[in-house]
Amino acid sequence: MQAGGGERAYIPLNSAKGATLVSPEIIGPLFDGNDKVAIAIARIRQFTPPEGLYVAFSGGKDSVVLLDLVRKAGVKHDVHYNLTTVDPPELVHFIRKEYPDVQVHRPAMTMWQLIVKKNMPPTRMMRFCCEYLKEGRGTGNRESGRIIATGIRWAESVRRGKRRMVENCKNHPDKNFLHPIIDWTTDDVWNYIRTNNLPVCSLYAEGWKRIGCVMCPMAGPTGMARDMERWPKIAAAYKYKRAIGRCVEERKQRGIADVSREWGTEDDMWDWWLRGGSKEEDPNPWLFE
Ligand code: SF4
Repeated sequence: MQAGGGERAYIPLNSAKGATLVSPEIIGPLFDGNDKVAIAIARIRQFTPPEGLYVAFSGGKDSVVLLDLVRKAGVKHDVHYNLTTVDPPELVHFIRKEYPDVQVHRPAMTMWQLIVKKNMPPTRMMRFCCEYLKEGRGTGNRESGRIIATGIRWAESVRRGKRRMVENCKNHPDKNFLHPIIDWTTDDVWNYIRTNNLPVCSLYAEGWKRIGCVMCPMAGPTGMARDMERWPKIAAAYKYKRAIGRCVEERKQRGIADVSREWGTEDDMWDWWLRGGSKEEDPNPWLFE
């Protein structure tokens, strides 16, 4: 099913090369009448360059599947997780315990420092934090010239429904992406995890369907409220001296105009942020893994 409700025709790999190399015992179940596992493995084999794949690992369920498929494909690879400094503690613990070989990278700036630098918290419209914290800006060129494998899927969001299985990064032309499970449904992902007995982060057992940064604005006001309740200390760090409180102080000291007319105090900016930077709750929060 394509994000947004329409049916998307299933697109098999053009070349059958690789599919014939996958042994039946690692193929697993057939999904939707197509062997998506064999096709994903064939895609990985076909597009892995001699220097190997750069696997972008988030610790979410799609990443877990992606990494398992890369391992089964038997290709050269290295695996990376970018800490954002507002990662759910359960997720970091899960990665360290289950995937000790993943290379964990710290950003050049914490989320709190970034909020003060930008003089406002990130919003759906001003999503500056991903570039700094998740995409590694300021931490060197680890991904430069690499083919980056991700667990992005069309079914995750309308926006991701427009991505291609192999694509060039529009912001950094020296990077290319490979999304081997782009056409998998959420059921495909969970079926694969169960069939292959893969570990997943404990937050899924608590009801989380998607896991990302704590209080990510892209989860919408409902998701932010849920996170605030689940991780009150991290929420307090966003609000008080470390981030939003400091923003408001600095704005006053530097005489920066209150553009929204709603940022007079830290409570004002906090309430504005929790509403998603608008009066109304967004009924269609952006989805992420
Ligand atoms: S996932 Fe959300 S909070 Fe985390 S860096 Fe991206 S936009 Fe910011």
